[in-house]
Amino acid sequence: MRVLLVGGAGYIGSHTALAFLDGNHHVGVFDNFSTGDRGNIPEGCRVHEGDIMDGASLREALSQGWDAVVHLAAFKAAGESMERPEKYSRNNITGSLNLITGCTECGITSFILSSSAAVYGEPRYLPIDETHPTNPENYYGYTKLSIEGHLAWYDRLKELKFASLRYFNAAGYDIRGRMRGIERDPANLIPVVMETAVGSREKLLIFGDDYDTKDGTGVRDYIHVTDLADAHVRAAEYLHEHRSSLTVNLGSESGLSVQEILDKAREISGRPIPSVITGRRKGDPAKLVASSAYARELLGWKPEFSDLETIISSTWEV
Ligand code: UDP
Repeated sequence: MRVLLVGGAGYIGSHTALAFLDGNHHVGVFDNFSTGDRGNIPEGCRVHEGDIMDGASLREALSQGWDAVVHLAAFKAAGESMERPEKYSRNNITGSLNLITGCTECGITSFILSSSAAVYGEPRYLPIDETHPTNPENYYGYTKLSIEGHLAWYDRLKELKFASLRYFNAAGYDIRGRMRGIERDPANLIPVVMETAVGSREKLLIFGDDYDTKDGTGVRDYIHVTDLADAHVRAAEYLHEHRSSLTVNLGSESGLSVQEILDKAREISGRPIPSVITGRRKGDPAKLVASSAYARELLGWKPEFSDLETIISSTWEV
């Protein structure tokens, strides 16, 4: 297949590029390099520099005869989306609509969306499956839900088949050690723990230890990025073969606490990793765990590298 990864120079995009190349697909990367890095793009990808907000560069890249587009070009900081919603409306919603309409105009019929567990909001039950009500707690989550809604309409009206992949907490680095580009200014737990381990941050702030969880700290479902990347390839192949849209959760189906992550990082790195308990972060649920039964059934997907040891060691080695 010929696949264009829009936002392919970012953390998940570059791992997804590796997975498509490993499957002998032809890969293009479209990116404006605002947060992604050229150094992240694996050899063998054709690079198109451009912006989803710029119709001309987008049309030029989309008209190169792609079988599928994978859309990973979005801002993703939930906290920031509440402070600067315009930034998220513009890029995540208007930019996605430019891309979707560009695809139909250029005859591209398969679309894979980086979606998020943030579409669900505060969980009403666990594990969260795809029928769980969607009620985003932050504007970032709403932008993803809104794009899913547009895709459903374009499926009905224009036969654009889509796979919406609702990621839980992406973590780790390429299992074969091919990825060296680390994220700039990370806000997520594991990269922050690692920055503290190497001394570029003074201490880890633990956002609350009074949750109703195994040790009082927040519990999340961490999914290794190599497993996530593999799901994109399977989704593209599924759309190609079945011509039927799908929405699936991608998670490991197990919950890890902040304290467990910290303890494992201390063990693997051999560093002290100073930490201090602070107040809860606004909008943080106590516990999020996915059911990925649907992805397993539909795509034959199975997380292979999402155990705590592999997630932490593949991050520490970068
Ligand atoms: N967390 C923390 N300190 C940090 C960053 C995150 O204690 O510096 C906690 C956060 O409260 C949550 C978990 O780690 O319980 C995962 O947070 P992250 O921001 O990585 O992902 P989110 O679940 O918000 O998407």
